[in-house]
Amino acid sequence: MPIITLKLELQKPTKEKVKMYRKMTEMNTAFANWLLNFEGLKAATSKVFKLYSDKLFPSAIVNQTIREVQSKKRHQNTKKFLRFWCGFNNQNFKVEKENDLYKVSFPTCEKRIGVPIIVKSYQQKWLDELLSGEAKQGKAELYEKRRRWFVAITMSFEVKPQSGNQNLIMGVDVGLRQLAVASIGTTSMFFHGNETAYTRRRFASLRRKLGQAKKLQTIRKSKQKESQWMKDTNHKLSRQIINFAMENGVHLIRMEDLTGIRHSAKSRKEAGRNLHSWSHYQLQEFIQYKAGLAGIKVEYINPKRTSQMCKCGHADKRNRKQDAFCCRKCGYKSHADVNASINIAKAISGLSNKKSA
Ligand SMILES: [Zn+2]
Repeated sequence: MPIITLKLELQKPTKEKVKMYRKMTEMNTAFANWLLNFEGLKAATSKVFKLYSDKLFPSAIVNQTIREVQSKKRHQNTKKFLRFWCGFNNQNFKVEKENDLYKVSFPTCEKRIGVPIIVKSYQQKWLDELLSGEAKQGKAELYEKRRRWFVAITMSFEVKPQSGNQNLIMGVDVGLRQLAVASIGTTSMFFHGNETAYTRRRFASLRRKLGQAKKLQTIRKSKQKESQWMKDTNHKLSRQIINFAMENGVHLIRMEDLTGIRHSAKSRKEAGRNLHSWSHYQLQEFIQYKAGLAGIKVEYINPKRTSQMCKCGHADKRNRKQDAFCCRKCGYKSHADVNASINIAKAISGLSNKKSA
């Protein structure tokens, strides 16, 4: 059963709550470090906390910390924890829904509290599966990142195999001009990258200007911002592609194995930006991950000739001119990326060695 982790942000906690969460983390870290050197660790129960301190601390967290320290000591031979976030098992941590608002509740040093959480649209589906019992809740962890507080909930679920035609294959071509083209048989879908290209150029020209002013720090920040933005875009694109596959009952996705291929830059402007290939690689990773969750298999194919080959079997570099594909032998015309994605679906040059799981 696949396992995923949902990271949900708590609605801005009050100063008092933040103080309490930090204090709990501090206590838990100290307790975990004490446990590491505690001789009775192997047989420890929540009662050992009394040996450590006379303060009040929820036994739910104590139990979880004991289990995790036992496992970490056994498997990783840890010597010291810098920070040990408070964790809860599924008995002590609850997700609830009231009207359309989601809440989580868990024990603290003072009492059990319920706090509203910020749920992104793609997370809602998972939370609803958790609430309906379709997915099983695992451990939950309360943690802080950049002054914001989150809970990470792990959940496991059954993958439902795609019903329908058991031989339906979709080819996905990842490219510069169109971010991605997916083809199922003769049905194709474009996932446009125009806006993406524009935004990338904007980031790059901004950096050039800043470079002259030697504002290195700002350049670094701009790069971080760009990769974050690229990541968000790739998440959205992969979601759309997988939805398209699911709506059409696809059971296998094929993509080009891009390992070792450096995308030839079409101009000086595009040169030196290996962000392109990195971004393509990331998009494929996301597609593969989401396909796995949807019960769709992924295969990688040898990228040789996918953009030059015609359906008549004639392969020629000159068959392709930018976006246009026109076979020099039989005259077949198509969009170049559509033609490529159909060839990818057919795996015309065979499967690559790249593993898909
Ligand atoms: Zn042809």
